[in-house]
Amino acid sequence: MAEPIYRFFENHRILEDFRTSAHWLAFRGWSEAAGGNMSVRLELPEDISPGKYQALPLQVPELAGMGLLLTGSGTRAREIGIDPVLHVGLYHIGDDGESFCWLAGNKTPTMELPAHCAIHNQLQQVRPEDKAIVHTHPESLIALCHVPGMNSAKSISDKILHLQSEARLHLPEGVGFIDHQLPGSLELGQLSAKAMSRHHLVLWQYHGLLGSGTSLAHAIDLMEVFEKCAQVYWRLRAAGIDPEGIAVKDIIHTLQAFGQLGRF
Ligand SMILES: [Zn+2]
Repeated sequence: MAEPIYRFFENHRILEDFRTSAHWLAFRGWSEAAGGNMSVRLELPEDISPGKYQALPLQVPELAGMGLLLTGSGTRAREIGIDPVLHVGLYHIGDDGESFCWLAGNKTPTMELPAHCAIHNQLQQVRPEDKAIVHTHPESLIALCHVPGMNSAKSISDKILHLQSEARLHLPEGVGFIDHQLPGSLELGQLSAKAMSRHHLVLWQYHGLLGSGTSLAHAIDLMEVFEKCAQVYWRLRAAGIDPEGIAVKDIIHTLQAFGQLGRF
C-alpha cells in the first residue's frame, strides 16, 4: 500500500523546489513536451517499508540506503509545476547499492534513472553538498553545438563564458562537454558522472544541458548564467560580429579579486 509522499519529509521544501523549478523550465521553454528531468537525493527516515526491489544496471555504493526523488517518465514540466506529487516519484536505493525500490508518488521513473544514479553516486563523493540534478534543453546552448569548432569543454568555456564579466565567477572551472550519445543511455550517464566530477554544468552535444547544485533552483541559476552568455553570443552573431570576448587577463583579475582563481 502506497504511503503519501509527504510523509517522508520533514517539510515540503524539496517538493516545492520541484514545483517552482519545473514551472520556470516550462515558462522558459527549455523543457518542451516531456523533455528534461530532475532528481534530488536525500536521507530517508528509518521506518520505511520498501516493496520489491529491481536491479540497477550499475553499482552505486555511495547511494546505498539513500532516497532519490525523480521526475516520472513522460511527465511534462508545465504539469510538474502545478502538482509535483503526481509527477515525482520517491525511490529507495537498496543497501546493496545495486537495486532500487519505489516508495511513493509517481511510479514510472524516467528512462534516465540509471544515469541519475551514476551522477549522484559521483557527486556524493566529490561534491556531497550538490544534492540536485537538472537536465533540460535550452535552445541557445543546443545551437552552439552546431557551430564549427565548438566541440570541447575548453573551446565552449573560453568562447562563451568570456562574454559576460560575472559568468566565470559562477563557473570558474568552465563547463563540461560530451559528444553526442544515445539519449537515456547508461553510457551518457557514466560519461556525465565523470564530467560532473569537475564541472557543475555539462553540455550534451546536440541534446541539452545537465547541471548540479545544492538545490534544483541553484542548478538552474548556473544554467541561466551559461544560457545568458549564449544569448549574448547569438545576438552578436546576428549583428555580424564574431566576438573575441573579455581578455583572459581581465577574467583572471576578476577571479583573483573574488578568491576564485584556484578553480580556474
Ligand atoms: Zn533530454
